[in-house]
Amino acid sequence: MKYALVTGGSRGIGRAVSVKLARMGYHIIINYASNATEAEKTLELVQQAGQDGEMLKFDVSNHQQTREAIESWESAHPEEYIEVLVNNAGIRRDNIMAFMPEEDWRRVLNITLDGFYNVTQPLLQPMLVHKFGRIINMASVSGLKGMPGQTNYSAAKGGIIAATKALAQEVARKNVTVNAVAPGFIRTDMVEGLDEEALKKTIPANRFGTPEEVAELVGFLVSPDAGYITGNVISINGGLYT
Ligand code: NAP
Repeated sequence: MKYALVTGGSRGIGRAVSVKLARMGYHIIINYASNATEAEKTLELVQQAGQDGEMLKFDVSNHQQTREAIESWESAHPEEYIEVLVNNAGIRRDNIMAFMPEEDWRRVLNITLDGFYNVTQPLLQPMLVHKFGRIINMASVSGLKGMPGQTNYSAAKGGIIAATKALAQEVARKNVTVNAVAPGFIRTDMVEGLDEEALKKTIPANRFGTPEEVAELVGFLVSPDAGYITGNVISINGGLYT
């Protein structure tokens, strides 16, 4: 059995990635923060794709909770390891910097950056021992070009891109690849409330992307064919940013 952990797998891009990886033969560990109903829906879709999966609730920004969840999974599966990690959990709390509450600054950075550390660090050693691993970090166009009204989110996503590049160089010899995916506007709960009609005029492809399109890219990066791609950021944005 091959195992993949998708953080924020209950909704949006994480759900589509879970289904894609299930189709590729992975048993999916669906992490979520609070939305058990949506996580169950993802699990059903994974099962419809012909694989089994399980739900694993923890807040990626909480070090102790994350450790306990991963350790309990590991003690239930002493012979197995998680060979694919998709660090996808994320939130946005947009505001212009002049009005940004400290809580919104911290929450976005904690989930993206502390979350990356909390989940990746304990899973890395088994990947190195088994000499195979795939880590995909969900970045954003905001982390590449910076977006006004998203100084917190841009800082977090820029940080995750730098972490991707650094970690990739540490582990490449052991056949563990680390890449980031940088979506533009993708139609999920996260973009609810944005003016899609106005925004799509700024996108050369003239539409928002779908979670399934992002999942296809993640699937390729996970596949054996992508073994020589590491430390990279792949944009998927309808031409929004070049
Ligand atoms: P979404 O529909 O809002 O889903 C967010 C997911 O993250 C949910 O599964 C949620 O779990 C989970 N989550 C949030 N906080 C968490 C925490 N502290 N611990 C564990 N899980 C947590 O978002 P999305 O659009 O699919 O975004 C997924 C990723 O893509 C994010 O990193 C986002 O920044 C990035 N991204 C999205 C877009 C876009 O246009 N949609 C563009 C660029 C990048 P619950 O269901 O339990 O709340």
